[in-house]
Amino acid sequence: MRILLAGGTICPFDRSHRFIPHGYLGIEDGRIAFVSKESPEDFEPDRVIDCQGDLILPGFVNCHTHLAENLFKGLMEEVNFEGLFYTTLFRWESLLDPEMVYWGSMAGALDALRCGVTTVADMYHYATATAEVVSEVGIRGYIGQKILGFSLERPPRQVEHGIDYNFDFSAFSTQLDAAVEFARKWAGKANGRITTCIAPHATNTLNREMFAAIAERAAAEGLSIHLHLAQMESERETIQAREGMGCVAFLEDVGLLDQPVLGAHAIFIDEEEIEILHRNNVSVAHNPVPNARDAAVVAPIDRMRDAGVTVGLGTDAFEMNLLNTARFAVLINRVRTGRPDYLPAYDALAMATIEGAKALGLEQEIGSLEAGKKADITVFDMSRFNTQPLRAPLKELLYYGDVGNVRMVFVDGEVVFEQGRFVRVDAERVRQELQRASDRLRARIDAFMRRGE
Ligand SMILES: [Zn+2]
Repeated sequence: MRILLAGGTICPFDRSHRFIPHGYLGIEDGRIAFVSKESPEDFEPDRVIDCQGDLILPGFVNCHTHLAENLFKGLMEEVNFEGLFYTTLFRWESLLDPEMVYWGSMAGALDALRCGVTTVADMYHYATATAEVVSEVGIRGYIGQKILGFSLERPPRQVEHGIDYNFDFSAFSTQLDAAVEFARKWAGKANGRITTCIAPHATNTLNREMFAAIAERAAAEGLSIHLHLAQMESERETIQAREGMGCVAFLEDVGLLDQPVLGAHAIFIDEEEIEILHRNNVSVAHNPVPNARDAAVVAPIDRMRDAGVTVGLGTDAFEMNLLNTARFAVLINRVRTGRPDYLPAYDALAMATIEGAKALGLEQEIGSLEAGKKADITVFDMSRFNTQPLRAPLKELLYYGDVGNVRMVFVDGEVVFEQGRFVRVDAERVRQELQRASDRLRARIDAFMRRGE
């Protein structure tokens, strides 16, 4: 199948930093054949798409998600997040089943495509259900099955002087084995759209012995790691008390950073730890929207980026709108740094595309529009009034664009979303099944709360 995108403004986010007004992009067998000012005469497309007035970008890379967690939407946004986390959330998660995760992930994946996101880095329970969804809807996934240092049947609990984590090495080992089995089974599946990793939950919800076991196993299996890193103040305080050092220093000390690591959040870290991230080539997923919403904090991405750390963008739970995230990253980090010129539109959108691909170690295949790379592409219709008049399309998109501007989304050269329609999936059926799954979960939560556990 050969497709020609004709006449759009193309911003490839390649090394040249070039910008092609009225450009041509050819797709052949799932990959980008060329990006140029003219269409080569010998390229005979099966389909020509008129992209005049459109902006063509690499598909967005969402570096940190829990697709299925949207099942908990509406229950967690206006509560004491840190308190809720240990006293309630794990107990609720024990009420999930694979079917709920399947429909939650399906809705999350469709929401992602609708927002121009072509890759999601997801970690959650029942990752097989999420991998099946990725396979079916046509999105790209970097997936790990969540590993905790305890059994969900006996989660952490509040005690007089803090949290008792109920660590259980045997329950952990079972989860690690299952996570490795998942990673082996699904690596490279769905025509190479699935990459797998190991996903320990966070620095404080597993202990030293467990992280040492994960480091050893990840090295033996050649797997990268995705985890929550210094997300909460209590997490930093816990590691400080347990290990006498910060979260990042602890991970280096236990040998985990010998593998490629993607850390989500990286908020409560000091200058020395930023240097540890840099020298170990650890990437960071910046999630400014949930960080501001749930904990009123912002990560020091200016200092991390200055130190040479790769920082991609993530939405974390509930939301998939990476364009909104990029805009919020710009605004909140301008407030944070006191610099109104911080993070120009190009840099913010690079974080949403090529920097995100680097954070996942996938920059050879995706993240920019270059001949030979996988054709993961988002086409924005810029003719709507919110992005008019059109002078500097990246600025118009970043500051004023919304998901209504998303016209077409390609993954692996296949159109998976076009003009509001999901090509592979019956959206109405997904809506109904999601509601059913969510109702079933709420009923279980209500019964659980009534029992007063
Ligand atoms: Zn998260």
